[in-house]
Amino acid sequence: MQFENSLTFAQQYDLNDPLNNFRDQFFIPELNGKPTIYFTGNSLGLQPKTIPQALNQELEDWKNLGVEGHFHGKNPWFSYHHFLTENSALIVGAKPHEVVVMNQLTTNLHLLFISFYRPTQKRYKIIMESAAFPSDMYMVESQIKLHGLNPEDAIVEIKPRENEFHLRQEDIDATIELHKEELALVFFSGVQYYTGQVFNIKAITEKAHQCGALAGFDLAHAAGNIELKLNDWGVDFAAWCSYKYLNSGPGSVGGVFINEKYADDNSLPRLAGWWGHNEKDRFKMLKGFIPEYGAAGWQLSNAPIFSMAVHKASLEIFAAAGMTNIIQKGTQLNAYLVFVIKEAMKLNSKLVLQIITPPAPERSCQLSLLTDDNGKSLFEHLTKNGVIADWRNPNVIRMAPVPLYNSFEDIFQFGTILQSF
Ligand SMILES: *Cc1c(COP(=O)(O)O)cnc(C)c1O
Repeated sequence: MQFENSLTFAQQYDLNDPLNNFRDQFFIPELNGKPTIYFTGNSLGLQPKTIPQALNQELEDWKNLGVEGHFHGKNPWFSYHHFLTENSALIVGAKPHEVVVMNQLTTNLHLLFISFYRPTQKRYKIIMESAAFPSDMYMVESQIKLHGLNPEDAIVEIKPRENEFHLRQEDIDATIELHKEELALVFFSGVQYYTGQVFNIKAITEKAHQCGALAGFDLAHAAGNIELKLNDWGVDFAAWCSYKYLNSGPGSVGGVFINEKYADDNSLPRLAGWWGHNEKDRFKMLKGFIPEYGAAGWQLSNAPIFSMAVHKASLEIFAAAGMTNIIQKGTQLNAYLVFVIKEAMKLNSKLVLQIITPPAPERSCQLSLLTDDNGKSLFEHLTKNGVIADWRNPNVIRMAPVPLYNSFEDIFQFGTILQSF
């Protein structure tokens, strides 16, 4: 496809886009009465217009039915998580009994580590990317300490080579190989939050398994953004949040994948709660925990219905749009964004920007740009002109044109604002 830096080209591209009409299903924040160019769906996705109605349904059932809503509401609360399972499975490439929606991301990672990080005297190391998301670093360190081990000794971080920004798969493989005698777990993100690098989950999992370790993933920036086939790839466990690409609102409920090979493995330790107990007997209040089959057996508490209702409505949009369309458009939006940035740089020598996100297939819709000393004032120029992007210290601008609600016109408009710096 030959791109052009013109409004008519961008508008024509939008007309041919099979997801074009999805933008109308979202509230787009405005600045001075004009829709913003919202490029931070990787941080907090926008609100679908179906949300107020979805929430209101639950408020009405609570108002009118009280406790009876557990069984007689329109969407009975007792088994509410079932309404989200199938659509979640579609997003991460899992079988329905391998996923459950519950809690929040960091909490879920802790629960998964309790089951899947089982250090022995010989095998206790965890390999992870350097500069992982802080919550993941804190989580891993505290899990290691929980076992009486020293994080400095147990964590092996993989760093980019000098003057490079992303990790090479060959270096990941070599590190796994190097530590294979002591390795318990390889724990990676699916998409690196800072650089936007898409990791090869399949290759990492295969290598970990070859070396006798398990492989787990934090899919915060991957779920709803890239192709995932967790079941096919043999991933052991994964977790994600729902408020980034999955548009389910600030702090909303998270999702978990547990490979079906553990579905009825009751030898795994786990932290138990009544919502994970065999559903038929859950309200019998019996002694003796019997886990529900599959990921659902890791639930702890009553489902947080208001978060779940938002997530349910949002997942329905993903099911309607289809992950294949979403991924394809994400790639095109990203490519057009790169084109428009390069055009702007040709026309304005003040723009000094370096793309640090590796090229496809290690790229999603997200683009991270390293700026020079003018970076902060460039970012302020963008913000003042209605571009909502994201600044990461010391000097990176992250942008994610999101397939469900960003348009090619957004990108063209962004280009003119960039040029005018
Ligand atoms: C966003 C994000 C989190 C946030 O965790 P919460 O528990 O939802 O606050 C954790 N890890 C990664 C990699 C993230 O991108």
